[in-house]
Formats: sequence, structure tokens, C-alpha cells
Amino acid sequence: MAYYREIAPKPYELVPFAEKTPRSPCQGHHKYNQDLLTGVLELSLHTERPVQVASGYQDFTKDNSGRENLASVMPVVEKGGKQWHVIPGSSLKGALRSIVEAISPSCLPFSSKKLRQLIPDQVRKCASKEHLCPACRLFGVTGGGKNSYQGNLFFEDIFVDPRDIELWRTPILWTPGGRSKLIPRRYLSNNKLAGRKFYYHGKSATGPDSRVVVKQGVNLGTKISFENLSEAFLGLVVAALGLAPQYPFLIKVGAGKPVGMGSIRVDLKGISLMGSIEGTGRMVGSLKKLENIVEQLSKWVNAACGEGLIIPDNLKKLAEILGEKTLNRQSPKGLY
Ligand SMILES: [Zn+2]
Repeated sequence: MAYYREIAPKPYELVPFAEKTPRSPCQGHHKYNQDLLTGVLELSLHTERPVQVASGYQDFTKDNSGRENLASVMPVVEKGGKQWHVIPGSSLKGALRSIVEAISPSCLPFSSKKLRQLIPDQVRKCASKEHLCPACRLFGVTGGGKNSYQGNLFFEDIFVDPRDIELWRTPILWTPGGRSKLIPRRYLSNNKLAGRKFYYHGKSATGPDSRVVVKQGVNLGTKISFENLSEAFLGLVVAALGLAPQYPFLIKVGAGKPVGMGSIRVDLKGISLMGSIEGTGRMVGSLKKLENIVEQLSKWVNAACGEGLIIPDNLKKLAEILGEKTLNRQSPKGLY
């Protein structure tokens, strides 16, 4: 009998780049603008698959049978006399940024020598605070001195109770394209990068690699604060969280994306806005809870589409890749 190694279907798809990326100056932080929205999104994150944010360290951890395993561990901090595992706010920020980049006319913020030649001109990294794409205006840019900008969104670390943590075994993941320094041809079109890569959700595949993860089925609370955003920009943010009423999807956070890890359903628990004092232009210090959230979300997402901040075809494509039904896809155990 002939031996062959079955190569699984690709667990990802590419979302094409924007054809144009209009850039404008950043909003600034010096004062609250009463025509813009400042406030807080209160979120509940439900882990539909195990979630791991690696700390870069390995340690010995007991599994259910009490056996010690060397595993990749998550960051741990002490708070209130108790040890907590932490998903750093920067992990959620990074996940959200890559979605915003894909559904809006935004740049590809890489500047490695290896990639520079391959990035289509219209999505080259923003270079000046006066000319920022939508993603750089929301999430900021790191650059030399004056051209660094903090962005208008602020994330907090997510604390996870140790009881919601377990040891999980996944297949060993290989770098796409092996050890070769070349970009695989399947990522290119006309010798340029063809788009941004997004993994489908999937059933969790198991294997010999040990990782410490947040269990499947856990609810984690967090907040995203925003400052000086127009309704359209807020629409872009809520669409990227998978909360656009017409285009719902689940986001992916952390490691193990090809093997059915990191899937998170975002629930919006509430939106609070900072109000202005009538006629004075001064902001009230307290936040006011918004009513009719679903109506507001539709209005903001429509504003984002109307102002060209959302590319509808890309949002639709991403909602297909990250849609709930891809949770039932088979994830590859080996090569793909
Ligand atoms: Zn940019």
C-alpha cells in the first residue's frame, strides 16, 4: 500500500487590502471635543475555545492526573493577596487592530526589510502623525519621537481566576513555509502580498504540546475606554468586535489559532458616554449609560460604511471566515 501524508485544507483565508488608504491628522488628546464621543464599552468575553496568551516562559504544571508537565505558561500577577493569570490588554488590542486593519482602508504597519518590497504601495505603513490611516488613528503608532501617537482606545488587563485555567495539549505548530526565509507563494499576487491572513475558528485539535490555557466556556469581564471618537469611528470599533448587527462574528485572541484555540464571543454589556454641560462646552465628570444599544450600534456601523471607514465587502468576508459556524470546522493536526 502506498504511503502518503495527507495535507489538511488550509485553516485560513486572505482578506484583500484596501485599494486606497485615505490618511488624515490625528485627533489629539489635549481636550475633550463635545462633538465627539468619549466613554466606555463594557464587555463580557466568552471563551468558545481554550485561550492562551503565552508569557514566553515554560514551567512544570500538573495535569488532571497529577502528572507534572513542562508547559508554556501565561503571565501571572498578584492582586488582593491572590495569584491571577492575566491576558494583557495588549493582546485584545492587537487582535482588534488586525480586524480593524482588514475591514477599513488602513495600512499594514510592518516595516521589516524582508516584507517592505512585498507591501503594496497604497497600504505602506503610516509615517507621519499628520497622515494617519483609520487603524493608526484608533490604535496609535509607534515611531520615532514626534511621530508616535497613543491612539484613542484604551485596554485593560484581563484577570483570570486560577480555577478557570487548565493544562491543554495541542499539536506542535510549525512555522508556515518551514524554516525558509522566503514568503510562501500562496501569500503573493503579482509579487506583492495578497492580503491579510485570518484563521477560521475550528474544533480544538489535540497533540503532544502542553500549554496553560483559559478553559473553554469561561466569561471574562473587561472594558475598552475611548476618547474623542466620531459615531463612524465607534461604528468601526464595534464592527471589529463582531458586534455589527448584520455581520456578527467571533474574534480570535492569543496563540494556537490554526488548531482551534483563541475563539472568543464578545457580548456588549453596556455603553457609557461622558456628557457635556449644555451651552458651556465643558464635560461632565460622570458617565451616563446609553439606552437602546442595538439601535445605536446599527446607526454607528451605518455611519462608518457611509463615511468609507468600513469596506463592506471586507467586513462581509471576515464575518464569513470568523462566523460562528466555522467553530465546527475540523482543525488540522499536522501539516496544512
Ligand atoms: Zn496606518
